[in-house]
Amino acid sequence: EFGERFNLPHLRDVFDMKPIPTTFSLKNRGPKLVDGASMPEERKNGYVNEDDRALLKVIKYSSPTSAGAECIDPNCSWIEQWVHRAGPRDKIYFQPDSVKAGIVTCGGLCPGLNDVIRQIVVTLEIYGVKNIVGIPYGYRGFFDNGLQEMPLSREVVQNINLAGGSLLGVSRGGGSTSDIVDSIQARRIDMIFILGGNGTHAGANAIHKECRKRKLKVSVVCVPKTIDNDILLMDKTFGFDTAVEEAQRAINSAYIEARSAYHGVGLVKLMGRSSGFIAMHASLSSGQIDICLIPEVSFSLEGPYGVLRHLEHLIQTKGSAVVCVAEGAGQDLLQKSGATDASGNVVLGDIGVHIQQQIKKHFKGVDVPVDVKYIDPTYMIRACRANASDAILCTVLGQNAVHGAFAGYSGITVGICNTHYVYLPIPEVITSPRFVDPNSRMWHRCLTSTGQPDFL
Ligand code: ATP
Ligand code: MG
Repeated sequence: EFGERFNLPHLRDVFDMKPIPTTFSLKNRGPKLVDGASMPEERKNGYVNEDDRALLKVIKYSSPTSAGAECIDPNCSWIEQWVHRAGPRDKIYFQPDSVKAGIVTCGGLCPGLNDVIRQIVVTLEIYGVKNIVGIPYGYRGFFDNGLQEMPLSREVVQNINLAGGSLLGVSRGGGSTSDIVDSIQARRIDMIFILGGNGTHAGANAIHKECRKRKLKVSVVCVPKTIDNDILLMDKTFGFDTAVEEAQRAINSAYIEARSAYHGVGLVKLMGRSSGFIAMHASLSSGQIDICLIPEVSFSLEGPYGVLRHLEHLIQTKGSAVVCVAEGAGQDLLQKSGATDASGNVVLGDIGVHIQQQIKKHFKGVDVPVDVKYIDPTYMIRACRANASDAILCTVLGQNAVHGAFAGYSGITVGICNTHYVYLPIPEVITSPRFVDPNSRMWHRCLTSTGQPDFL
């Protein structure tokens, strides 16, 4: 059945709520059609119908062994999954002038956070919301009494997209769901927009459930923030494009250093805790990478088929080499510290430093001089402002988050699936991170481009 798997939680499911006509006007859409005829009155108000769906997959795999096919049952080679289409509805479930809306940004920085904050505020104002606040420093802002909420308006957010970072600040860790919901209740917040990654989404879903338990008519809407592009089902998340673009500068520097040195090896560590999308895309786009290492594909450094032997070959044949490694790659090669950060995430070992040391040791052992230059551009990549394509994505996601809250949904997140903008229930997108599929065409294309063998 249409949309069955992606049943969106709605406040109507638990509260007796009557919708009212929307205050978000579409009347100002162009008055003339292309041929010069006037737009018929009824089409001027073409809101997104609640029953509209986008198809998640538009490909028919004719066999389960086809490149990219994930299903194992040859009879289910065409999976029909429909997703709720995002956008403004003609009926809304909140009276805008009595709404208090809050925005919070959690986790690490990501290009585009300010663009999303800005667009949420602007769209709320267009609906007629007058009471908009920012919660400072992530979930911490809910329970740290020393932190004041920040009044937001179009005026305040007008230019914030010109700089990276988050106007509201971010943080990791701390706080029980119950304390956070106490705070939402005390502040009389009706809509809360939560920007963050996997951890933040888990927290938001817990907040959504706790609000239901307490019979609070609060709409909880997330916007996925992950530079790693590791959210399930989504074509891409904001910040990813910018990160890949910024990574080019680091890769190019590594390439120049490697080419200019005698037996130069450039080594660049990019973000990607569990998913290697940034490393893969940066390698594909630069064309300067000889070896790309990602968390999803294990490799050995030593041995006849190891990375170091291949580097020797590259030095012999090309005179230099450039390696790109995702921060979460090769963790099995490192000693585990067992440490976790404030949010409970495992602190990764530094694979970049490890590879650098191993390269030096190996080439000393075979008596070949090498000149290794290690570049770690992590914070430069995530602290910059969004590029044009991410800025557009942020704008659409921010607007859709507001439309989703007014439409009465709660416990949802916004995204782009199969080129369409959609709403998804939070649990659907966080059961695991999204990984690079080592059998996908994209990873094979990356291998074709670098020319690297299997390192096992
Ligand atoms: P990033 O991509 O930067 O890691 P994230 O959202 O995953 O983003 P985290 O630091 O892991 O960042 O988590 C952000 C916030 O969500 C923290 O305040 C953390 O306490 C909270 N959080 C993390 N995991 C959970 C969970 N399972 N349940 C409730 N809250 C959580
Ligand atoms: Mg996280």
